[in-house]
Amino acid sequence: MSEVFDVEEIFASKVFTIGTMKERLTKNVYKEVKRVMDQGGELSPATADIVAKAMKDWAVENGATHYTHWFQPLTGITAEKHDAFVTHPDEEGKMLMEFSGKELIKGEPDASSFPSGGLRATFEARGYTAWDMTSPAFLKEDATGVVLCIPTAFCSYTGEALDKKTPLLRSMEAINEQALRIVHLFGNTEATKVIPSVGPEQEYFLVDREKYLQREDLIFAGRTLFGAPAPKGQELEDHYFGTIRERIGAYMKDLNIELWKLGVTAKTQHNEAAPAQHELAPIYETANIAVDHNQLIMETMKKVAGRHGLTCLLHEKPFAGVNGSGKHDNWSLTTDNGVNLLEPGDTPNKNIQFLLVLACILKAVDTHADLLRQSAADVGNDHRLGANEAPPAIISVFLGEQLEDVVKQLVETGEATRSLQGEKLQTGVSTLPDFMKDATDRNRTSPFAFTGNKFEFRMVGSSDSIADPNTTLNAIVAEAFCEAADILEKADDFDMAVHDLIKKYMTEHQRIIFNGDGYSDAWVEEAARRGLPNIRSMVESSCALTTEKAIKLFEKFHIFTKVELESREEVLYETYSKCINIEALTMIDMAKKQILPAVIKYTKSLADTVIAVKEAGADASVQTELLNDISAKLVEAKKALSTLEDRVAASSKIATQKELAFFFKDEVVVAMEALRTPVDELEMLVDKEVWPIPTYGDLIFEV
Ligand code: ADP
Ligand code: MG
Repeated sequence: MSEVFDVEEIFASKVFTIGTMKERLTKNVYKEVKRVMDQGGELSPATADIVAKAMKDWAVENGATHYTHWFQPLTGITAEKHDAFVTHPDEEGKMLMEFSGKELIKGEPDASSFPSGGLRATFEARGYTAWDMTSPAFLKEDATGVVLCIPTAFCSYTGEALDKKTPLLRSMEAINEQALRIVHLFGNTEATKVIPSVGPEQEYFLVDREKYLQREDLIFAGRTLFGAPAPKGQELEDHYFGTIRERIGAYMKDLNIELWKLGVTAKTQHNEAAPAQHELAPIYETANIAVDHNQLIMETMKKVAGRHGLTCLLHEKPFAGVNGSGKHDNWSLTTDNGVNLLEPGDTPNKNIQFLLVLACILKAVDTHADLLRQSAADVGNDHRLGANEAPPAIISVFLGEQLEDVVKQLVETGEATRSLQGEKLQTGVSTLPDFMKDATDRNRTSPFAFTGNKFEFRMVGSSDSIADPNTTLNAIVAEAFCEAADILEKADDFDMAVHDLIKKYMTEHQRIIFNGDGYSDAWVEEAARRGLPNIRSMVESSCALTTEKAIKLFEKFHIFTKVELESREEVLYETYSKCINIEALTMIDMAKKQILPAVIKYTKSLADTVIAVKEAGADASVQTELLNDISAKLVEAKKALSTLEDRVAASSKIATQKELAFFFKDEVVVAMEALRTPVDELEMLVDKEVWPIPTYGDLIFEV
């Protein structure tokens, strides 16, 4: 019999949950904590001390020796600095483990070595972390022991956000305030809160660790910089949802258990389209918790892989020629009395609140398509967006037949009198049930698709933090809600005014709706005709942060100041240049020290063979031809290598971060591609025995 898992028992066993607090705190203290969690404000110092002690006691009982303020700097990953609960011993040399309210609420890590885009010069290194009470503390267990992790926001001495969490929390407040105005207008006066909920589907690759360690490109860049395609790719579509191999299954099982302990609702797992690619999806939750949990998912994926002799690759495009990895960000808005604002019901044409919300979202996405595109940009995603497996770099909204029809009626006649209904789908087999067909089919090619009761933002990259996309979504929709509420609150005839507003927004912004094939060339042309932006790269998307329109939006809702936005744009350029520089140096290193020497050695043995065969009086034409082909490619590769070295050297002379990033994109990346081509061709010509690194076939088919 198999081992029985008590998932209910282990779930959140490493989390200081609300339930744990309730158990361990007195009624009054618990009440105060709950009130601050729900309504904001600050804990009194006395309460903070009590909570800290309870948290420390719980952590210590569970093996903790240290605590950390866990935060999310602009690196896109998390940061932690551990402090032991150790205190000064008393006269007799006895030491008592302690943790104060002050230590719980505020931390002061040295901020000087995190990206800040000039926000904080090194001589003003002070940075603060503040406890985000709405995301629960948890225990991380690894070789260092057990550490109590306190989710925090990170800002500078002068209060500027230095992280991804602070703006996200600010954007949640903005959308809460503006969405509440909308639901109140529609008579839901009981609602006191509107919460953005987020469910991110995480894609990843697993490769054998031994093979991974033989490839510098995987080690330094997280993706292959060379590699000829294997004879087989994903064309048979046999990996997607395929049977999970034993080794991968053992990994997934272990991963689920670790995540469940951390209170992460790991729910869905399956093989993805590319060989060696997989997916994990949790159940959706409040945006900031979803962001924290997604970080934990990524971290745990990597950690658990090590135990199974595997390495987890989160890069957006680890292998050319097969699908890359994304992170579909499912997003919706729900009131605290249980109404999902994105739930159309069976007859969306009669659901006026839904239609207004939809109209506002269309307006928001159309007005700020550039910002949304930017929020999904990272270095790795440049390889993915617009390639044929990923949504295109053009933002458009997929609504599906039913809603598109409703919008059409509204735009054309000002009235939506009917909703297309799903018909009965006959299976044609008497022993199988017939089911009701959804009124709307799925569309896999849209970057922003309505999927029943939520939007699915599919552009986000697999390695990226989901904080930025959700901050942006919250902000742009808050703005649209605010403008709508400003008008509707003043209207004499509410019904009439809503009706007019829906029609107006839908008419003005219908160009953003596209239900067709987003991968087709025809769409690129059509989108251009509609005037929709097609921003192809991360570097080109970065300036979206500092347009007048963006500054106005973010300042209005106190999400970012102009200075914060400028600093973030700067960080993006810096990050891009640094990453491409690492990739270029890695290529140079591999080409120079591994690949070219191996090929040169091989030409020597071929030349020896030619001579020997000729001496023996036999026909050496095949060997000679091969030698000539390889030598020609070798010349090409060497030339391309020199050009790449030259371009990298030239980059040091460029003054501004922005120019430098563009230089890397336009010059260095191009030179990298020019080097890759002959090297990949050489791989196809040279004896496998002498090729110095594992091939695509070795990496993705032998896991
Ligand atoms: P798909 O068929 O798109 O691959 P998955 O089941 O893999 O679907 O993932 C769907 C994700 O959407 C899950 O994380 C799920 O929790 C999330 N989701 C469902 N409803 C909502 C909602 N109302 N708000 C946000 N996310 C949601
Ligand atoms: Mg999925």
